[in-house]
Amino acid sequence: MKCIYCNCENDLTVSDIIPYAMTGAKVKKSFVCKTHNGFTNDNYEKKMISEFAFFRNRLGLTERDGDPVRYNAELNIGEYKFDNVSISDHTSILGSSKRIFPTTDKNGNKVLVANPETLLKQKGFSADKLNILDASEVSIIARSNIHTLFCSNEMLHTVAKIAYEWHCFINDIEHFDETQYQDIVSYILNPDSTDHFVEIVLSPQTWGLMDHISRTGSHMLFEYCDIDGNTYVIYGFWGIIIYKIRICKSATKNLSIANVYNVYSYHVDGSNKGDMFGTYGIPSIPSLDCSSALSILCDEIKNRLSNVGERDLTKEYLINRIKEIKPIFSKYKNGFYNLAQLFDYEHEDRIIPVFILEQLFLNKELFDPSLSFTQNMQKALDCREKFVFTEEKLKTVLSRYVEMDAENTFETMLDSAINYFESTLAF
Ligand SMILES: [Zn+2]
Repeated sequence: MKCIYCNCENDLTVSDIIPYAMTGAKVKKSFVCKTHNGFTNDNYEKKMISEFAFFRNRLGLTERDGDPVRYNAELNIGEYKFDNVSISDHTSILGSSKRIFPTTDKNGNKVLVANPETLLKQKGFSADKLNILDASEVSIIARSNIHTLFCSNEMLHTVAKIAYEWHCFINDIEHFDETQYQDIVSYILNPDSTDHFVEIVLSPQTWGLMDHISRTGSHMLFEYCDIDGNTYVIYGFWGIIIYKIRICKSATKNLSIANVYNVYSYHVDGSNKGDMFGTYGIPSIPSLDCSSALSILCDEIKNRLSNVGERDLTKEYLINRIKEIKPIFSKYKNGFYNLAQLFDYEHEDRIIPVFILEQLFLNKELFDPSLSFTQNMQKALDCREKFVFTEEKLKTVLSRYVEMDAENTFETMLDSAINYFESTLAF
């Protein structure tokens, strides 16, 4: 085994082929030397990952230590506005947090905005100075630029690096073959290069394929030999955009009109899958340079990006959420936490799973072992396709749980619902 960038045999380190920060699935191999692993990371991967912080948080990805992803945003609480606030979850700003946001009011008076308990601990501060703000008046605004996200030199270099390493990974290439990969490797190792190795796919068939096999946040990859004599990797990123990366010259020009491709998809919940698909016709996937393609696809991409917060309600999603909720639920049962804390101050990823668990439990006589988990869940939730949890629905469900909490029936319900799910459905 040698480094796939320089053939060095010492100091080989594990490369996250798709950066761990961008996926729940681990695709890694120890075939990159320490120098080159550090090089790609320091020169563009880190920067690209930080650009996506808000969306990584929305997708439910975490930092390496399991903490929610932090991002910078504008925070508005009532009439007060704070720029560039580092945010992870709602608790980080509204809950037991010790953070204090200093500002001034309309009349120029000094104002501190924080959790009441934190304020009362301040020297010289008394309860009569306290003004309670409504937590429902909190808004968080994060701004991003489509061009910076998908078309920056950092993004395109990261995409090329992922494609080359994945190509080596899938083809068991364990050294740097200069005769084949000189061009792509020198592009990857030259962060300022503006060469056209990465383009954006326009073919509706490929977009259709991505929608068919990807979920929000999935990475889809496959490679093919084009009629132009090159081997390309096609890389669908998060179900939002599809790149085409030129890897090397093919051994022979592909002139066949019937082709079969192996497509791999890596999902946020850590699962991955291989699929095959066939095409009939010219083996070429139309693409355009990133900047031109982006102006054509701008609305489409914006639309897909705005859906990033949508949850794919899979069994894995529920299992992961239960793992998170259980320790907090036990604090709730012991009286250390209240309902608001259990729900992380109206966080969707706490309310939605509780609601699904409840509905599965209440509708357990509808359970049909011959159907898939998703089909059973759709029956329990009484929906045909995607289950959409609107803001309004969220409020209705939440106020019902607040009532149940007051009547002391919430705890029993959630206990039974988790038990039912874990003993009957989570296999
Ligand atoms: Zn190296």
